[in-house]
Amino acid sequence: MKRIVLVVCDGHRDDLVQASLCPAICGLGRESIRFGHHRSVYPSTTRVASASIATGCRPARHGLHGNTMGLVSADGVQVHDVGPPGFRAAMRAATGATLRAQTMAERLAAHGGSIVFSNVSPGGAYFQDPDGHGHVYHRAGSYGPGEIAIAGDDALSVSHDGAGDRAMTERFCREVLVERRPALAVLWLCEPDHAMHANILGSPAHHAAIAAADACVARVAETVRALERRGDEILLLVGSDHGQESIETAVPVTERLVAAGLKESLDSPEVAVAPQGSAGLVYLAPRAADRIAAIVDCLRAQDEIAEIHAGAALAEIGMAASGCLAIAFSMAKRDAPNGFGVPGHTHVVADSAKTPRAGIGQHGGLGRYEQSPFLMLRPPGGAAGRVETRATSIIDIAPTALGFLGLPAAGMDGRALPLR
Ligand SMILES: [Zn+2]
Repeated sequence: MKRIVLVVCDGHRDDLVQASLCPAICGLGRESIRFGHHRSVYPSTTRVASASIATGCRPARHGLHGNTMGLVSADGVQVHDVGPPGFRAAMRAATGATLRAQTMAERLAAHGGSIVFSNVSPGGAYFQDPDGHGHVYHRAGSYGPGEIAIAGDDALSVSHDGAGDRAMTERFCREVLVERRPALAVLWLCEPDHAMHANILGSPAHHAAIAAADACVARVAETVRALERRGDEILLLVGSDHGQESIETAVPVTERLVAAGLKESLDSPEVAVAPQGSAGLVYLAPRAADRIAAIVDCLRAQDEIAEIHAGAALAEIGMAASGCLAIAFSMAKRDAPNGFGVPGHTHVVADSAKTPRAGIGQHGGLGRYEQSPFLMLRPPGGAAGRVETRATSIIDIAPTALGFLGLPAAGMDGRALPLR
């Protein structure tokens, strides 16, 4: 039976896929097609990327707006963190559903099934399969089809770091790849993203996290090659969901809207700002809908904000004006290298839930580096390594996977990638 194995090294930038930092990933590249112009989605955050990889769709179609997102309530719009396990229930209560596009897990439920092992946030894990069509294993709770909880030693209990990634990978290879053999097996590592959020990009701690992820990829690649020698036909995809940039300053966007008289108070529900790291979303309740032009003007006047998309122009970045979403913006960038020679700086949206430190990594916007994940595709038996130069996106992974399995990929925004 044909199978898909997908490994995501969260946050690993394409320009840091270098033999000195990640020899196993680069070694895999020599027997794979590597995609040289690969992009994330907007916003370039893990939870949205997870939903986009799972569905092959941009947020306009699948409906998950960000790592935080506004949900319409009786008096306006409330911003929710998509990370905690309870968010899906809040999304269902507010919108009647979770994702509005089918996931690979749903499409494969009757065609060999899916198993996801993820060590990112609960939201990042569960939006691979938010309605329980297959298996999702995460430290906050593991579930089988029908959202049946998996208990005891069968649940995934690993630390949220590189050591946890490694323990998860060992079990994934032994149990999922060798024994259970689902049509789709996903391994989503928290590194190097987890370390990049706490360390200067290019620092020894960042490099150690890349090496940790690389060791996990080595283990998976070795397992896939061994299974092939036994006759298995496996398409191995190894990549990331987004990159990162170095933080310059945190900009109090909400405070500035209040100061400009465009929002009643910091927590008033008629205008809501949902921070996405180096990007942000603005929701307008119907009674504040006429403020859209004034708010766009106010955002345009901020030096730290670059691109702004509002109303129908949201479609240009794969977003849609639904659920009171009115405006999406990305913070200004600077290409210069940091002290470790890693290029790309960004301002971020101040977020009461986090205290960003200048120099550490962040992502979420349309910047060159945060929008540069990597992707390599190893067809069964391997290929002559080459670089594909046409523009590709993380939304192309799902149609590629389904096409390889001989299943239709209708209703997706992405396109199937070449397998040779
Ligand atoms: Zn991140």
